[in-house]
Amino acid sequence: MSIDPQLINKADEKFTYDAIVVGAGVIGPVLATALSRKGKKVLIVERDWSEPDRIVGELMQPGGVRALKELGCVQAINNIEAWPVTGYTVIYNGESVQIPYPYKQDVKPVEPLKDIVFDGNDKVLNDKTVTIKQFEENERESGVAFVHGKFISNLRNIVAKESNVTRLQGNVVEILKNKSNEVVGCKVDIPTRGKVEFHANITFVCDGIFSKFRKELSPDYVPTTGSSFVGMSLYDCKVPNKYNGHVILGENHMPVLVYQISPKETRILCAYNSPKTPQDLKKWMVDSVQPCIPKEIRPSFDEAVKSGKFRSMPNQYLPARQNDVLGLCVIGDALNMRHPLGGGGMTVGLNDVVLLMKKIGDLDFNDRETVLDELLDYHYDRKSYDSVINVLSIALYSLFAADSKNLKTLQEGCFRYFQRGGDCTSLPVQFLSGLCPRPFLLTKVFFAVALYAIYINFERRGALGFPIALVEGISILITAVRVFSPYLYGELIG
Ligand SMILES: Cc1cc2nc3c(=O)[nH]c(=O)nc-3n(C[C@H](O)[C@H](O)[C@H](O)COP(=O)(O)OP(=O)(O)OC[C@H]3O[C@@H](n4cnc5c(N)ncnc54)[C@H](O)[C@@H]3O)c2cc1C
Repeated sequence: MSIDPQLINKADEKFTYDAIVVGAGVIGPVLATALSRKGKKVLIVERDWSEPDRIVGELMQPGGVRALKELGCVQAINNIEAWPVTGYTVIYNGESVQIPYPYKQDVKPVEPLKDIVFDGNDKVLNDKTVTIKQFEENERESGVAFVHGKFISNLRNIVAKESNVTRLQGNVVEILKNKSNEVVGCKVDIPTRGKVEFHANITFVCDGIFSKFRKELSPDYVPTTGSSFVGMSLYDCKVPNKYNGHVILGENHMPVLVYQISPKETRILCAYNSPKTPQDLKKWMVDSVQPCIPKEIRPSFDEAVKSGKFRSMPNQYLPARQNDVLGLCVIGDALNMRHPLGGGGMTVGLNDVVLLMKKIGDLDFNDRETVLDELLDYHYDRKSYDSVINVLSIALYSLFAADSKNLKTLQEGCFRYFQRGGDCTSLPVQFLSGLCPRPFLLTKVFFAVALYAIYINFERRGALGFPIALVEGISILITAVRVFSPYLYGELIG
């Protein structure tokens, strides 16, 4: 396919840009747009500007939608047949509980960023599937799901309109450093131009999940992979609750996520507790997943299994590291990853951009030392927001993929806790949706769930089983501490 010459020829190797942005996935275009609106001259480099086709980043939590509003980019969800999400349905061994997203009055109002938000670019427009009524006027927060590639194309169209941004197609092959080991730009392999060096006061690395350049922060900065998701597209699927994300749980199977991403297409992601997926995926789907699929979903599920179009992705975990290299800022999945079960990756990355703009948006990037000082602080300032989403995703995965007796008890306890309603659902969903940046409140709620699981176990054992239940209770509590504490500690102290 021929490449638009504008994407090749316009980048100027003789000019020192204020900023270079590496990668135009979810975070890159939004970051470049925000910088441009702050008056910075930006070069954004992407190895492939054509519409991506991936099974990642398809459900955005309300906290992500709010960040898009604060960054004046929310109209990226318009005209792509995006599907509103109003909350979750959790199904456990066939029983279900609905958990709607929080009321707007219970969370902080959206704070549009100066210079970045103007002319109503913080408000969605009406289209075939997205309405002002749903996203602006509803008393509850909304999330949104979409075909990932279409959303990325919209973000890229937004950045293309920025007069201060130059787009370049090419593969970044090296981060350039001076003799003092400070970053001064990057080397790009460009079709027809070859390898060219570009310079900037600061280089933002947003090269995503399989980042090649995160190691510029430290050679041992590598993610861990514990599990994977196998995905399929379901067509004309009748989900139990329209406009809900569905989490299907059970004591005998791994968690399954189901959410509609357009009027026709629904994504199903099936967890597999190993980074390497089964060799015979069809057999695995039929033997291990199909029995837990609700009957409404079965016809489209069976069709999808028959067609055999499976796609898998590793689920990686990477706690953030401080950006302490002068002239460099790593952000998005390159900096920080969590389990995708909570659908929080885009929300974390976009809120990181909001915070970053507040901290450095008005600085002169020539003053590299001051920018670095702010980036050092930024690492701590982002923790309360990001740690909640990150720790929750790992804790939920451990419970939902329960592979021991204690974890299975915690899993059931969690579901029964949700069934109580009131604060037992409104707080957890505030954490999940990226609307409650309070890690210590999360800790309190997590251990309330654990105590509830222990209480259920006591009830089940009855008066005669009290001594056994007591021993089991202590063991369950130790498991809960093991599941939660190391991650919370890693996120808050690291
Ligand atoms: C299975 C799975 C499901 C997920 N589902 C969700 C979800 O439902 N909701 C959610 O919020 N998050 C989800 N996530 C996480 C989400 O996809 C990421 O958080 C998000 O994509 C991160 O955005 P990013 O811009 O950092 O990286 P990416 O979106 O990965 O973008 C990186 C970009 O950099 C470009 N690039 C890479 N290397 C180079 C190079 N050397 N030169 C030039 N360009 C380069 C790539 O082409 C790409 O365009 C999921 C993740 C997984 C694994």
